[in-house]
Amino acid sequence: MKIAFIGLGNMGGGMAANLVKAGHSVRAFDLSAEALDVAKANGCATFMAASEAVKGVDAVVSMLPNGAIVKSVYETDVIGHAPAGAALLDCSTIDVATAREVISAAESAGYDMVDAPVSGGIAAANGGTLTFMVGGSETAFKRAEPILQAMGKAVIHAGDAGNGQAAKICNNMLLAIHMIGTSEAFKMAEKLGLDPQTFYDISSVSSGQNWSMTSYCPVPGVGPQSPSDNDYQGGFASALMLKDLRLAMEAADSADAAVPMGARAASIYEDFNGAGNGQLDFSAIIKTF
Ligand code: NAD
Repeated sequence: MKIAFIGLGNMGGGMAANLVKAGHSVRAFDLSAEALDVAKANGCATFMAASEAVKGVDAVVSMLPNGAIVKSVYETDVIGHAPAGAALLDCSTIDVATAREVISAAESAGYDMVDAPVSGGIAAANGGTLTFMVGGSETAFKRAEPILQAMGKAVIHAGDAGNGQAAKICNNMLLAIHMIGTSEAFKMAEKLGLDPQTFYDISSVSSGQNWSMTSYCPVPGVGPQSPSDNDYQGGFASALMLKDLRLAMEAADSADAAVPMGARAASIYEDFNGAGNGQLDFSAIIKTF
């Protein structure tokens, strides 16, 4: 397939390279000349405008920073420039309302479009092992599925337009809550005189067991290898967790959903980021206890 790829940053760079490896002809655009150089080295054709990159393609994939940019790129450079009937796939993490608005505009212009945000970080983007949660019509999902499979290990249809974003922010809100809960439990155990490894050995086979403990333990030297063992470098940056929590709070507000734990998690990550820790992995939140 001929596929345009817009947004070749930390995530998009590796994803575009995996589409090339799967045999697709990839037409890349990014505002950054450096990102375009890397895309070229990875076998993409590069363009100086998104509206040029989308000419004659079967599909467009985007991986951009936020909803305002996604809306502007699709309204200005994709809709009306990509061939009528092309499949459009936005993999960025953005707010549910903007995702639904952009998909509705695309559908009115005759395109099939999905929101397809990802779980997994830069390593998963490079390795082609992302999980995609996809919102959109059955037809749009069926068209997007084989393209997403070339970049990931799991592609799940979450329902109508915007439901991919809804799944992503609900999941990440829950992740923030159990990472904070796990962190405070380890610290309290330590203050009560328990060795962290001993507490892990007990809790990891008891009812406190959860993913933040047994797959991504915030305590260095405990559990499998994770960013805590590397001074909280790499992994999923606290700044990105805060971005997702803000999106979750916005969505909860618009849906009139009660999220007392999510709201507390958002405020704890606000303070942590405000203190200059945005680049540390999100498990570094244990430093606040
Ligand atoms: P990034 O900042 O590294 O990349 C974004 C790219 O978009 C940059 O190269 C930038 O130049 C480009 N860009 C910005 N405006 C543009 C425009 N108008 N036209 C074309 N290109 C433009 O960000 P990232 O880490 O790759 O994240 C991308 C998306 O993936 C975000 O929505 C993020 O929330 C989501 N995400 C990131 C991670 C992660 O671990 N980094 C994990 C899951 C989801």
